[in-house]
Amino acid sequence: MVKLAQLSKTYARGEATVAALHGVSLDVARGEFCAFVGPSGCGKSTLLNLVGGLDRPSSGELYLDGRATTTFTSHEWTLARRELIGIVFQAFHLVPGLTALENVALPLMLRGDGGRSVAQRAESVLELVHMGHRKHHRPGELSGGEQQRVAIARALAHRPKLLLADEPTGNLDSHQGAEIMTLIRSLAKADSVTVLLVTHSQTAAECADYIWTMQDGRLVARTPSPALTGVA
Ligand code: ADP
Ligand code: ADP
Repeated sequence: MVKLAQLSKTYARGEATVAALHGVSLDVARGEFCAFVGPSGCGKSTLLNLVGGLDRPSSGELYLDGRATTTFTSHEWTLARRELIGIVFQAFHLVPGLTALENVALPLMLRGDGGRSVAQRAESVLELVHMGHRKHHRPGELSGGEQQRVAIARALAHRPKLLLADEPTGNLDSHQGAEIMTLIRSLAKADSVTVLLVTHSQTAAECADYIWTMQDGRLVARTPSPALTGVA
């Protein structure tokens, strides 16, 4: 589903350059759930941003669902995010003036989906994240955990094959965080959605099938998680 071949990313910082990713190679199968952990600045967000087309690699190849993305235009990336990819961020990024239902419906409407099917899909995916009873509330009227549920509904509304989650529990307390991770895992496994998760939280990472440890822009270890081995 996701293949990285010698992917590198270098940022300019004044006269100097910073290598955020050093020739990372990785193959993630359809339906696999991978977590990326490691110290701040080791390249986790850079990796996720490259896979989501939010940033471009300096060298190397990235394949999504068998397609080489190196020659993608920004329009092709936009289409990929509308069809293939869902993204969840630490800070939720919901539109404050819109209700939960409208927030979930918005990306479907931007895709050009029709009125009635949009409302039905938005309602049903809000039910899936247990937010059906809050659908007419605006983000400011919801707790952090509830806002993240709406953001997850929005990310999954178009049935993406790939979900990217950057610190999805970073703004939540440990109880809300655990609920969000359980939700992400169960929704992803139900539809064979491939998940790439970046997190500082070991508990969150243990919801993955595999935990990759990153250091200085490299993948240095891959550990099967308790979720996979059943040794919780
Ligand atoms: P992590 O997510 O593991 O904290 P990042 O991927 O955010 O790490 O950052 C990796 C390295 O790249 C860090 O040294 C960071 O300062 C640098 N970096 C990330 N984004 C940029 C950017 N847009 N411009 C310059 N340097 C960046
Ligand atoms: P995290 O550790 O949670 O990933 P960071 O503070 O590393 O967060 O990065 C937050 C955002 O700032 C990212 O989008 C990253 O690309 C950008 N960033 C990180 N370091 C730099 C930098 N030195 N210069 C410019 N942008 C940066």
